[in-house]
Amino acid sequence: MPLLRNALVAMEQTSVDEIRLDEVSSRARSAIADVRAGLAHFERVLDSLDRGDQHVSRGYIEMIDALMEGGSVDIWYRGEYITVPFRHLYDWFEDPIRIGAQRYQIDETPFRRWADCELADGAGMTSVPCNHTGCRQTHLLTFYDPHEMQRADARAASEIWYCHHHRVNAWQSANALGDEHVELLKRVHDMPGCNRQQLAAKKCDTDFLISVGLLQSATQSSRALSFHLTVAGHEIVHQRSSRPRIAGVRR
Ligand SMILES: [Zn+2]
Repeated sequence: MPLLRNALVAMEQTSVDEIRLDEVSSRARSAIADVRAGLAHFERVLDSLDRGDQHVSRGYIEMIDALMEGGSVDIWYRGEYITVPFRHLYDWFEDPIRIGAQRYQIDETPFRRWADCELADGAGMTSVPCNHTGCRQTHLLTFYDPHEMQRADARAASEIWYCHHHRVNAWQSANALGDEHVELLKRVHDMPGCNRQQLAAKKCDTDFLISVGLLQSATQSSRALSFHLTVAGHEIVHQRSSRPRIAGVRR
């Protein structure tokens, strides 16, 4: 009963999310109460000073003034500090998105999306689907701030990617390659004879390009492999440089 199991998993997930949200909101509630009590105390001190109370020291009043006029709150939010001056806390309470967006020098709409996206270990993720019709494989692009999120979104919207199962088929049936493989071929073209580390390439990717006859390897004296394009590999690089994505139309 996979449907039932999926439904149960989804329900569990929902209740876990609700518990986390409850925890967060009750923590926020308790912190608000503390801050409000502290500020109310400051107000009472200033009121008593106005009534002529001689017991309040000048140093204490100066400290309150320094805190409220020159102090700020550092808010650790998703891997970065956002500093909000005490004087502008009200603006922050009213519209944290506007101030956060200013801090990152980004429009409010993407900042709101960043603020709402799920993070795992401080990283957000977006996925690129396999370009083969009907395939549900995806590969993940991670991002750590709103700017990286925008770059990942732009990449996810246009990137062509084939999963491990479909990349050979895509090449054989339509001469189609994923963008990361075209980029790797271009790097080999620009830096022939480099090893995998210099090319920032993974073994599975060089293995694949060798298997479809676009790349060839030779053993260097240091026993590391160096890579060169084959004639077919050269043709691909020249084709894609003049007419990008000739056969790799995104479905
Ligand atoms: Zn696939």
